[in-house]
Amino acid sequence: MLTLGMDVGSTTSKCVILQDGAELVAQSLIVAGIGTDGPERVLRDILKKAQLKETDIDYIAVTGYGRNTYQNADCQVSELTCHAMGAVHIFPDVKTIIDIGGQDAKVISIGKNGRMESFLMNDKCAAGTGRFLDVMAAILQLKVSDLETQAALADTPAKISSTCTVFAESEVISQLAAGAGIPNVVAGICQSVAMRTAALAKRLGVKEQVCMSGGVAQNQGVRSALEKELNVKIAYSPMAQMFGALGAAIYAKEQYEKDGMKSRR
Ligand code: ADP
Repeated sequence: MLTLGMDVGSTTSKCVILQDGAELVAQSLIVAGIGTDGPERVLRDILKKAQLKETDIDYIAVTGYGRNTYQNADCQVSELTCHAMGAVHIFPDVKTIIDIGGQDAKVISIGKNGRMESFLMNDKCAAGTGRFLDVMAAILQLKVSDLETQAALADTPAKISSTCTVFAESEVISQLAAGAGIPNVVAGICQSVAMRTAALAKRLGVKEQVCMSGGVAQNQGVRSALEKELNVKIAYSPMAQMFGALGAAIYAKEQYEKDGMKSRR
């Protein structure tokens, strides 16, 4: 049985195809999210990679902030459920998931049954999300994927204390003018994201094992700063940005079985 999970995010569309809800057949990511042709493009791309037609797929589940904008799925499911399912699939013992995406940050607590138990979310403010890192990278004329390399070169991370992205932007410019140097400024930016997310995680309560999901998980500067802030080891998978889509593909298998193995077309 083939199921497809699609995650239509604020910045990026992701897809995963699974065989029998477990074996990875293909994955694809297109940097174009809600309100773009990202969902159609990512679907075309993954089917091409897997050498499949859409009619070969038994069930499609869509998740993500933009899930309501994609009409061609068999079901819609919340991002929280999907990130939990995707993370537990990769890290079966995980108890706390820290998900930092393009426009929000969530901390999810996993119960004994391996399902989401509770969560806290920051979706009111860009600081502490991928958006903050995207804005700062643009100011520094860096790619967001280069931030971790720069952060690793820091000797004295700059203090970015503003709680607002717009004020933090001026603070970054002042720090550069004062000669802090790009690596120290980048390390300060990563720390600032980590501190905001750590505060959210502490409010929910952090139980080990802890892992990260979402695109920002790829930034080692943020991961290391979070480890220090929370005093825990954070498990990381290079698939972290795909956890939502992966969870949706797992959820699609469960729904397909509940629907009595009906063929979708
Ligand atoms: P969404 O689902 O809202 O689109 P994602 O979980 O896909 O969000 O994460 C997108 C964010 O991930 C971007 O805003 C960016 O800051 C960050 N990001 C994307 N690619 C990388 C990378 N290679 N290295 C570090 N950060 C990245």
